[in-house]
Amino acid sequence: MRVTEKGEQQESLPNEGRAPLEVVRRGVAVRGVVQGVGFRPFVYRLAMEEGLAGSIGNDTDGVTIEVEGLATRVEAFLTRLRTETPPLARIDAVAVREMAAIGEKGFRIVASEVLGRVSTGIPADAATCADCLRELLDDEDRRYDYPFLNCTNCGPRFTITRQIPYDRPQTSMAKFKMCAACQAEYDDPLNRRFHAQPNACWECGPVVWVTGANGAEFAVDDPVEWSVGRLVAGEIVAIKGVGGFHLSVGATSEAAVARLRERKHRYGKPLAVMVRDLEGARTICELSKEEEELLQVSARPIVLARARAGNGIATSVAPGVPWLGVYLPYAPLQHLLFADERVKALVMTSANLSEEPIAIDNDEALARLGGIADAFLMHDREILQRCDDSVAAVVEGAPQLIRRARGYVPLGVELPFEAPPLLAVGGHLKNVFALARGRHVYQSQHLGDLENLRGLEFFKESLKHLMRTFEIEPETVVHDLHPGYLSTEWAKEWAADRELPVIAVQHHHAHIAACMAENLLEGPVIGLALDGTGYGTDGRIWGGEVLIARLEGFERFAHLEYAPMPGGEAAIREPWRMAIGALRAAGIDVLNAEILERLGAKESEARILLRMMERGVNTPETSSCGRLFDAVAALVLRRREVDYEAQAAIELEGIAVDEPDAQGYTTELIGGDWERREPTRIRVEAMWGELLEDLRKRKSQAGIAARFHAGIADAFVKAAVKAREATGAAQVAMSGGCMHNRRLVRLLSKGLRREGFEVFSDRQVSPGDGGLSYGQAVVAAAMMKSKPAES
Ligand SMILES: [Zn+2]
Ligand SMILES: [Zn+2]
Repeated sequence: MRVTEKGEQQESLPNEGRAPLEVVRRGVAVRGVVQGVGFRPFVYRLAMEEGLAGSIGNDTDGVTIEVEGLATRVEAFLTRLRTETPPLARIDAVAVREMAAIGEKGFRIVASEVLGRVSTGIPADAATCADCLRELLDDEDRRYDYPFLNCTNCGPRFTITRQIPYDRPQTSMAKFKMCAACQAEYDDPLNRRFHAQPNACWECGPVVWVTGANGAEFAVDDPVEWSVGRLVAGEIVAIKGVGGFHLSVGATSEAAVARLRERKHRYGKPLAVMVRDLEGARTICELSKEEEELLQVSARPIVLARARAGNGIATSVAPGVPWLGVYLPYAPLQHLLFADERVKALVMTSANLSEEPIAIDNDEALARLGGIADAFLMHDREILQRCDDSVAAVVEGAPQLIRRARGYVPLGVELPFEAPPLLAVGGHLKNVFALARGRHVYQSQHLGDLENLRGLEFFKESLKHLMRTFEIEPETVVHDLHPGYLSTEWAKEWAADRELPVIAVQHHHAHIAACMAENLLEGPVIGLALDGTGYGTDGRIWGGEVLIARLEGFERFAHLEYAPMPGGEAAIREPWRMAIGALRAAGIDVLNAEILERLGAKESEARILLRMMERGVNTPETSSCGRLFDAVAALVLRRREVDYEAQAAIELEGIAVDEPDAQGYTTELIGGDWERREPTRIRVEAMWGELLEDLRKRKSQAGIAARFHAGIADAFVKAAVKAREATGAAQVAMSGGCMHNRRLVRLLSKGLRREGFEVFSDRQVSPGDGGLSYGQAVVAAAMMKSKPAES
């Protein structure tokens, strides 16, 4: 038997010296995402076309195939198996073994049995495929205009599944009995709908209807056309989708968008825009080849791309930033909305209030959204798992996930080594938990902030579901080092109830470990963790860190010099406080009239902060890079307060989007003694002086932002060089929330490569806190591997 390494294609067995007409038999084991994605009918068809006998069946690790026939045809079959793989399948490994020919005739699909533990689980939700879309718009087809058509290459999966095995009775399609025509397709191995679990049509499947805000149904002929009419009239329509409801308005109407924001209590945060097709996306955004590809992957993420000037989209959709979150329809119902010529671009935003979980149930939607939506486009295919839209961007030429949810969950991310069953609960904001077992980590969908009861309920409900889905009973619970996180408290209680051991993992170590594991790095590496805030081993708030990291441990090599955060959490919501803290730390007189004017602060307010800092009252110290961005943005952009986390930093990147690279502001490396494990401090005092000078000279905001980005990148490149001199490590893993900043990533990568470093970034998991649980799982598993638990 020959097993390939991950991702490599196995060469088939050599055929030399065999008579061309020799009959051979092969056993083929395929691992990867090969169940519920049309793999068996695909193999069946290949076997037919190559004139081979044998069988295929699902097993716990993937599929098992036996084929028998002419040696040359078996060769061809094995090649095509890997080159013509169905769109949603992913082959991780193929193992081929020789068997004795038995003279079998015909090819069979063996019924699915659940044998022991199932490692393949449930596939992710996939966008309507091209074949289904053609049928949807073909008035001769029996599924013309049918809002729930799908096939083995597309359709809902994770969001409609109660538990494994992924079979119709375990999905919310169970209550719909297939009509004779659908059943015939479902049973025919050569049909595109063979074992397509959500298969349905006008005769037998789910239906749509419309209601007012009070839930009373409107009697209309065509609910979709009626909804389009309301949208065109500027109303807010709640539309039930795949992973939850969307709130939708016409994206070109300033008044409609403003009303949506008002009612949703969401003011500054950009809203996503759905357009009909790639052509539509091109008219509102400037897209690179990579961005166009990303828009079209079957997960259909929201892609952050440069907005085109004068694109007609209401400016209140994405105020203050030069990007737009754009995406393409992924459900037939959405395609039908866009089939109406009047619909060009729709705001499609998660139906919730601020950071609460997305609404999925019809009654829940009416109760929670009754005050927001004017009308509801409902359907009766129940959503069993809440799942927001995923968000991604192209960073340095490759996709980066910002929010990993619909279309990606629950696909596992591979681990470089075996992990015992464990649960990693993630962080606080943008929470995602992870379950690990064997060589896989399964991250939950994006759950949102664990600050309200609904958020915690969502966490618990999703955990229960994923534990059942993957049949993982955690034996260890991993949490962040921060004692105050709700996730930490919850993890400790949950573990205590089950008498399980807990492991605390430092926030930035988890970020770097995530990047290392994804890139198969064992370390030690130089980890650049540039981030918002995370609890440090010294009890202070870290976030501008240079770590010497291995998977199971780390040392702190360097960090941004500490600055006070007057008011603690309040300084995150009000960057002007952060600016006062940072300027004060740099020895600058913050009572200066010009500074106060720029910060929109009264002298009395500033004096209060100064007193707080002097007395150390509610003034934690932070080395956070994100907070430094906030402070600079407060001063340069006059951004006193923010509506959402990291808004100021994002706007600072945005304002410089067209600005050429500039000479960075001055930073210095201070102190540090690696032998004695004393970290080097990165001092930005001189930078503040130069920046204030530029402001006095009325230099442009864009130019100042560009110089700031360059200065920060220079500082961390210098620190990495010093780390290499001290430790010999020459690989750099970059992670943390600031890695969403494309300018910063570009400058860092360029600077590091110029110095001869190998540079690595997160791709499959988010570099922000959405990727934290993956890193926690990696660190805990590595710790247990290097030092088995005493028993
Ligand atoms: Zn399809
Ligand atoms: Zn039917």
